Amino acid sequence: MTDEDTDEPEHNIGAAASERRSFPAGEPDDTRAERVVDRLGELYWRTTYGGRPAFDCLVRTILSQNTTDAASAPAHGALRERYVDGDDDGDEDGDTDDDVDLAEALAAADVGTLAETVAAAGLQHQKARRTVAAAERVLADHGSAAAFDAFVRDRPPATVREHLLSYDGVGPKTADCVLLFSGGRDGVFPVDTHVHRVFRRLGVAPPDADPETVRAVLEDRVPPEKCGFGHTATIEFGRDYCTAREPACLDDPEACPLAECCDRVGVDPNWD
Ligand code: SF4
Repeated sequence: MTDEDTDEPEHNIGAAASERRSFPAGEPDDTRAERVVDRLGELYWRTTYGGRPAFDCLVRTILSQNTTDAASAPAHGALRERYVDGDDDGDEDGDTDDDVDLAEALAAADVGTLAETVAAAGLQHQKARRTVAAAERVLADHGSAAAFDAFVRDRPPATVREHLLSYDGVGPKTADCVLLFSGGRDGVFPVDTHVHRVFRRLGVAPPDADPETVRAVLEDRVPPEKCGFGHTATIEFGRDYCTAREPACLDDPEACPLAECCDRVGVDPNWD
């Protein structure tokens, strides 16, 4: 889940090179993370997640790596049309054929054909290889997509996460998205490029925090039931207001709805 504007400048974009300052240690604010998520919930939504079939969710997340939702959604649709809905059951209404085990269908898929099918997502050969490998792992370790689904839903999140991270091409964000959108697990706050950028600028996470550190900070300070919409609303906010190169506050600090709780780290030329 990335945007065209995710390439964050390395320097303080509110200051000339000669004015750049080093970031201070910053006092952690134990309540600010929740305050921000509450505000984002008011701005966007306070949705709960879960219930998506886990293997389908994993496939969709693999397809979304290093591209936009606008590019990966058609690729996922094309995949389903060829390997699920296209497995003709006489049903022409476009509904899913529930008899098809997606893991079985994709484990048997020809990688070249799958790559062609998901070409809209880009990096299609790599994504096709990862998808087929993931399908093979699911079958080898769980026996079916349905059993994998139960594993994701019922086992401890840390166990599921560790298992998913052992799949080729599955990193923390992908594993956490499966836990959230399929397992509906509270307390999981996936960190994508927007979440990583926004919470460091806000001063909630240290300026030099890597994504795993930002995740640890958020999962520690945001109440479990607010982590899911915190993740999706932050992505929306990062696209609408706190973009990588042109945050709304750059010319007018009051233009951002989170201005009052933001340190504007790396953006404010007077930040010290
Ligand atoms: S005030 Fe600026 S840096 Fe802070 S969240 Fe808003 S747009 Fe981003």
